Amino acid sequence: MKISRIEHLGIAVQSIADVLPYYTDVLGLEFYKEEVVEDQKVKTAFLRVGEVKIELLEPTSPDSTIQKFLDNGGRGVHHVAFKVEDGVAKALSECDQHGIRLIDKAPRGGADGLKIAFLHPKSTYGILTELCEE
Ligand code: ZN
Repeated sequence: MKISRIEHLGIAVQSIADVLPYYTDVLGLEFYKEEVVEDQKVKTAFLRVGEVKIELLEPTSPDSTIQKFLDNGGRGVHHVAFKVEDGVAKALSECDQHGIRLIDKAPRGGADGLKIAFLHPKSTYGILTELCEE
């Protein structure tokens, strides 16, 4: 697989409304999009940091994986997303060949128009890893 850069950092928050002013008013980052991803039970907000994005993730339901992450004491960085230039499907099959546990067996639609798939943190030394392509 060919990874070109970090596409975004996913950051879990209880309330986007509460934390957004920190990113926009204090850090001065550009907020450009808010989007609900129904099947993931999250509301997302995107900010630009040069070519990289920050994806704030707010749970929309008590059984959202983001709510579970927060309830288990998780705070801050939830996942790291890499931009794959030669396709998420190919990257997944390479990871599978290396014995990496896949959360998604095939690419699916994610926020901000990306095709995405997640690798399990048990196989990636604790980092929930997202692979994305545009
Ligand atoms: Zn993400």
